Amino acid sequence: MQHEMPTKPHTSTSAPIFVSSDIYKRTGFQGLHPLAISRIGAVEQFCRHLGWLGPDNYMTSSPAPKDILYRFHNRDYVDAIEQADKSGKISAETRERYNFGTMENPLFKGLFKRASTTIAGSIRAAEHALQGGIAFHPAGGTHHGRPDRASGFCYFNDPVFAILTLLNGGLSRIAYIDIDAHHGDGVEAAFTDRPDILTFSIHEEKRWPHSGTQTGCNKNNKCNAPVPRGLHDSEFNYLIDQALMPLLDKFKPEALVIVCGADALAGDPLSAMNLSNQALWSAVKKLSKQYSKTVVLGGGGYNPWTTVRCWAGLWGVLADKPMPKTLPPKLTQTLQGFSSDLVDEEDVLEEWLTQLHDNPQQSQPIRPQIKQIAAQLRAR
Ligand SMILES: [Zn+2]
Repeated sequence: MQHEMPTKPHTSTSAPIFVSSDIYKRTGFQGLHPLAISRIGAVEQFCRHLGWLGPDNYMTSSPAPKDILYRFHNRDYVDAIEQADKSGKISAETRERYNFGTMENPLFKGLFKRASTTIAGSIRAAEHALQGGIAFHPAGGTHHGRPDRASGFCYFNDPVFAILTLLNGGLSRIAYIDIDAHHGDGVEAAFTDRPDILTFSIHEEKRWPHSGTQTGCNKNNKCNAPVPRGLHDSEFNYLIDQALMPLLDKFKPEALVIVCGADALAGDPLSAMNLSNQALWSAVKKLSKQYSKTVVLGGGGYNPWTTVRCWAGLWGVLADKPMPKTLPPKLTQTLQGFSSDLVDEEDVLEEWLTQLHDNPQQSQPIRPQIKQIAAQLRAR
């Protein structure tokens, strides 16, 4: 992918960077949509308030120009989103053809600018990774987006652009790791015929988008671990250590793109997994330590309390900041001000208001199904 950078390149080598934009200070989705909640703006507020962000490690992205979007997305689809956003209207035919302007993927004001800013952010993150550093872009992770249609709250597919940028920078073996609760179907499909791009997705079985159901890796290095409900930290850690790490040892990627959705956390209203944020942090930290060229993206996450704390803390972990035992009153106040139509007030735990980390889980037995999944992945 040859392209002109929409933003100026970063020259530092190894210090982790946080990529964001002022556009995320407002929510894009409105009304009853599961994403009409505080996410990226609040993550940034938390990191700033904790003194974890400054001019040295913070970068913004501008919207990616259309000729860049066309490198993965169909021209007519990109143009249709731009037009609909401009006019505020969408015809039934366009809605049907491109699957947006629906309840799932609504048309909202500023959609085109927002979605293309996210693409540029992941390109920027990958350019930093090419220089040997970790880049965190929590607004990224739109892993369901297709070349010619919206899917699962995703219009464009920024992880695909991160991977294309790494390839364009001269790398030839990339691993895409998706620990969002849902199957990373859009990214897997984008590279389905490319054994040089390994994709690995852990996701809850029998859940939308109902793909990635086959445990193991196919001949093109498309690997899936559909897991039963209630996956807990001990099982997650087991899958990372007994399946993912051995696979990566064999594949020897030159860089990683990680989608760290926060919807596999306990308390998320759109999935039934049961992880603590500490399990996600330690997995991403382990991966980024071993593979220095790493892009870390966000993804799903529909409980504002668990999502914001997870991603703010993830940045602290990636940037080697000391984790506070309790949150400063101002951030507790922010958390107290959150609301969600999908989470009952009485289900909001005290720890979601007062600390960044979830309380550690007791070690629990690994279910036989999990051991079997790991064995199948290792046996490829
Ligand atoms: Zn998800």
